[in-house]
Amino acid sequence: MKVLKFGGTSVGSAKRICHVADLVEAAGRNIVVLSAMSGTTNSLVEISEYLYKGNIPGAQEVINSLYVKYEATLRELFGSDEILHEDARRAIGRVFSLLRSYCSEPLTEAGEKEILAQGELMSTAIMERVLTSRGHNVGMLPALEFMRTLPNGEPDMQHISSRIRRLLELESDADIFLTQGYICRNDHGGIDNLRRGGSDYTASIIGAVIDAEEIQIWTDIDGMHNNDPRFVEGTKPVGSLHFEEAAELAYFGAKILHPACVLPAKLHNIPVRLLNTLKPEASGTLIYNTAPDGTIKAIAAKDNITAIKIKSGRMLMAYGFLHKVFETFENHRTSIDMMATSEVGVSVTIDNDSRLAAIVDDLKQFGTVTVDKDMVIIAIVGDLEWHNCGFESKVLAALADIPVRIISYGGSNYNISVLVSAADKVRALAALSSHLF
Ligand code: ASP
Ligand code: MG
Repeated sequence: MKVLKFGGTSVGSAKRICHVADLVEAAGRNIVVLSAMSGTTNSLVEISEYLYKGNIPGAQEVINSLYVKYEATLRELFGSDEILHEDARRAIGRVFSLLRSYCSEPLTEAGEKEILAQGELMSTAIMERVLTSRGHNVGMLPALEFMRTLPNGEPDMQHISSRIRRLLELESDADIFLTQGYICRNDHGGIDNLRRGGSDYTASIIGAVIDAEEIQIWTDIDGMHNNDPRFVEGTKPVGSLHFEEAAELAYFGAKILHPACVLPAKLHNIPVRLLNTLKPEASGTLIYNTAPDGTIKAIAAKDNITAIKIKSGRMLMAYGFLHKVFETFENHRTSIDMMATSEVGVSVTIDNDSRLAAIVDDLKQFGTVTVDKDMVIIAIVGDLEWHNCGFESKVLAALADIPVRIISYGGSNYNISVLVSAADKVRALAALSSHLF
């Protein structure tokens, strides 16, 4: 059995919902995880914000416009079948009655959590009816009956595993299983969620506990590309990536899953495949614990980087120098991303320069400080195990005509990073693509 997760835009309209139903039908007996229709969770957040502020008309306005959207979706999906349409309207109507009931009492945190849960409850209620009307026996696996977190906020894997197995047994006649992403119960049994974007996490957790054959994350893009298609021509989807390579790329906002989301899949050795609903026949990107060795997979860039160099004669053969430097950044709650050291100096990068002036001021007690703004980190990600020869030289050869501020390699087996100035970014990305692929 596989776990198939469809995001908000994939179920964002009646047409898209039908298309997902087609894909789900073709895939066979699997567990389908749905997000809320796109925009819904944002609206639910907005409703809660109005309620917290006691602005009841504000909340009502958002509720009403959300209702109009759902009404139209139901009409388009079920309008030709009076009984089915009425049944769907009643199900969605119950959700809106609940939302409206919150307009007459002060909002609590528990109330907010219940409001936020309604998006996924509605998208699955709609999909259940679409699939049933096509003749399927849909086994509903209510997330609020099995997905639970521990006091530390982590998923309670044992509880989830035994509960979902029980639910699957109870629904053993079903030919498709359907559940909500994102929503869960906390350790007090209250309705809660796995934080924004949490549906991917749901899919990964379920895949891990049922030992799924594969976890499929369906979106509207063609998996991960080997370079940024906005700046480089002829980029191609990456066929497969190691979980560690995917984690390296996540920092760069590459269209990839957050490492925390796929951790359960990684730990239980379940392959994760990124697929495109608009191009379902494409094989997408497979993320797994093994991946083709000895190849460079992808290049990614991150803008708005500031480099800070601290140079000091006192650093030579002294201990504790780096500690003081790092502590300065910690005091200003600023994380360091890339670094390079020499015997008499250290350069680091930050992507949040809101505390830059204060950081520089503090660092001046340790040495001479130089700042370079408007820099870009370019990461070259792949199987860069240090015994492999030649990759470092290829990367540097590609950048022969480009001034490089920092080079960092050896932090992991999967990444070489270089820091260049923003003006050279596109040139550097293109040169790397043509030398490496
Ligand atoms: N609907 C939730 C959100 O918008 C969860 C998700 O889409 O993954 O954050
Ligand atoms: Mg999402």
